[in-house]
Amino acid sequence: MKFYNILFVVLLCVQQIISAQNSTYQPEREKIHNLVHTKLNVDFNFVAKTMNGEAWITAKPHFYSSKSITLDAKAMLIHEVKMNQKPLLFSYDDNLKLTIQLPKIYQKDEEFTLYIKYTAQPEKVYQKGSNAITDAKGLYFINPDGLIKSKPKQIWTQGETEASSCWFPTIDAPNQKTTQEIYITVPNEYVTLSNGILLNQTKKGNLRTDYWKMDQKHAPYLFFMGIGEFEIIKDAYKNISVDYYVEKEYAPHAKAIFGLTPEMMGFFESKLGVKYPWVKYSQMVVRDYVSGAMENTTAVVHGDQAYQKPGQLIDENIHENTIAHELFHHWFGNLVTSESWSNLTLNESFANYSEYLWREYKYGKTDAEIHLYEQVSAYKNGQNVDKKLVRFDYADKEDMFDEISYNKGGAILHMLRKYVGDDAFFLGLQTYLNEYQYQAAEVHQLRLIFEKITGKDLNWFFNQWYFGAAHPSLEISYDYNTLRKTVTINVVQLQTDTFQFPFAIDIFEGNARKRHQVFVNGKDASFTFPYQIQPNLIQVNSDGVLLCDINENKVLSDYIFQLRKADNFEHRRDALLEVAKRQEDKNAFDAIVNALDDEAYKIRILALQKIDLINKFAKKDAIQKIMKMATNDSKTLVQAEAIHTLGKLTDPDLKPIFLKALESKSYSVLGKALVSMYYVDKPAAIAKSKQLPDEVRQILATPLTRIFIEENDKSELPFVAKNVLSGMFLTGDDTTKNLFQKAFKQITESNNTEAIQNVVDDMVVKGKQYQQFSFDKVVINLMRTMIQEQQRLNKSNSEKNIAIIKAAMAKLL
Ligand SMILES: [Zn+2]
Repeated sequence: MKFYNILFVVLLCVQQIISAQNSTYQPEREKIHNLVHTKLNVDFNFVAKTMNGEAWITAKPHFYSSKSITLDAKAMLIHEVKMNQKPLLFSYDDNLKLTIQLPKIYQKDEEFTLYIKYTAQPEKVYQKGSNAITDAKGLYFINPDGLIKSKPKQIWTQGETEASSCWFPTIDAPNQKTTQEIYITVPNEYVTLSNGILLNQTKKGNLRTDYWKMDQKHAPYLFFMGIGEFEIIKDAYKNISVDYYVEKEYAPHAKAIFGLTPEMMGFFESKLGVKYPWVKYSQMVVRDYVSGAMENTTAVVHGDQAYQKPGQLIDENIHENTIAHELFHHWFGNLVTSESWSNLTLNESFANYSEYLWREYKYGKTDAEIHLYEQVSAYKNGQNVDKKLVRFDYADKEDMFDEISYNKGGAILHMLRKYVGDDAFFLGLQTYLNEYQYQAAEVHQLRLIFEKITGKDLNWFFNQWYFGAAHPSLEISYDYNTLRKTVTINVVQLQTDTFQFPFAIDIFEGNARKRHQVFVNGKDASFTFPYQIQPNLIQVNSDGVLLCDINENKVLSDYIFQLRKADNFEHRRDALLEVAKRQEDKNAFDAIVNALDDEAYKIRILALQKIDLINKFAKKDAIQKIMKMATNDSKTLVQAEAIHTLGKLTDPDLKPIFLKALESKSYSVLGKALVSMYYVDKPAAIAKSKQLPDEVRQILATPLTRIFIEENDKSELPFVAKNVLSGMFLTGDDTTKNLFQKAFKQITESNNTEAIQNVVDDMVVKGKQYQQFSFDKVVINLMRTMIQEQQRLNKSNSEKNIAIIKAAMAKLL
């Protein structure tokens, strides 16, 4: 699963619910019975949001003979339980556990098939979901009554962690595996997607039954059904069909969004030495999805943040990492599955690290370094630094889906790879996959494989990184002996638990760099190296591999050198931030200008953001360079930042650059150009803003709002109103939030009925959509503010406006 989603992170901050729960030891689920096969026959009642189901569950005792079986079945109505046409006795406890008396004692490996007729009632399920406070319903009906005109009717499922048992009776544990077949009956206008192959379709009047079958076994949480009006865009990898299910509007862009999938399949296959194990690969984009994406076997689901237009894709496909992540789960997670949620790292750390592998292959080392840096930063800045990667004491299984299992776990795999070497690392992955295919595994099994291959004891590595928490915090100092021409590098570990680790140290003598590999295995360690000429810089952790914090004393000249010469993205980034603080120094300013040529585009962007162009007449050369970047940089995101930097100069001479940028196909360039243009030629910028097609205006809502609010353009308030709620709550950046708060105030204080209607319409939709975050309460409070303001204003149409707000509020109360 790809869990991180700005929307939820932000909304969680709005609500800040902290549920205090006790943690206890969380074992692997005991295997009393093993699932063998699951056959389902389902149809839907859209209005009631229920599903009629028949299930044929084939299972067998794991070892001990048994006369009853307990299945997970959440909030269902159980109509019949039979075996060979004969009714069986059953009890249904707390609407959670269905215990069935078997007609005789079954022995180890003796299979039996149960028939269960039931109704799934997802709206009656109350359990914690993967974004911490939503109810995991398993089966979701989107806009089932069709009341929201802008939203299609859809049905989709979300099984992980244990929510598949909301829509079919099963043993809902990750250490179970079953083959499956599903008959799905839907109105003719809908397409369906499920795991495996669509074997046939049978029409009955307005209805159609699709028969999906999967002959390879997988865990119940990976079952999927997706239903709705979708276009199916066909693609292929070798003889495996690769399909993209998108809404009509995005059909022309599906290949631009998902089209790298076949190349990823080929790359992962060759890297792992294990063929893509499944019969097909489909990806579907659904509305109101509860997470980022989910790796349901052969039927991946993505949230609608995957939808991007060409003008956005030119800048960056923000979903590309997620596409790689879900695909990689088809080896790590779906083929070999973590036996328990405590071992989730066996799924998620690998999927996370696949993003690095893909970027390294496709875009090179620096791009991959940027990704690793961002992943590690999110871990370090998160709330869970003191948690272990393998955790048997979590309070709730959903808590495992955090930046430890994902980000830190990915960084740990990177360290393992660098320690054992590429050959051993990828051979280890191949061996693990072959050894445990179609089974579940725990972390020790991974360790044993690496120990067998490398001949090394790896307990220390796994104990500190997998079964221990935190990371080294290092104090670094240097002692020079100028007589002997040696430098001693002292490493002191400041954190509580002492780590051991390989450590790369670069020593620069002039421009020549020499890398030394050392191994730190104590609280204090010192390493002495000879030199010919006095080193310009010593860079520790120079390959950026070790997950750590570094404290060291460096002076400006060190940072300037580091910014120019450091091998790793993070070190150049750190240096840039230090150098940027001292730009009154000419050498520092020149170093920032030089960084505008850095091969890492995020260094170029940061240099543009940090460069100080005050006293601009003395800095003509730098400005010339930025003007070139605005049109020529290979990355449009850099072009956009260059335009933004130039825009701050409010120099009418720059107008031709902004005019040219207004023709750019990149929406980021266009957005920055509009705002920059506004400060040098207001009428031209406003005219252009009004000419843009609606679709582009929606995507550029933030820069356009900036212009309209500043301009006090009342005619655009209805447009601003449509985006005000997203701007205030669904963005991580404070400047945007402040802007939209200002916009909201302007709307509230206006008597613009259309704008007020647009705001409250959006409030009703989003209040309902994010009810699980209590967002309905947030918007109701905003509505109260609006009413008070209208009462205070008491203008001609205030009464009408109040009535509109009250009518909307009634829909939420
Ligand atoms: Zn995942």
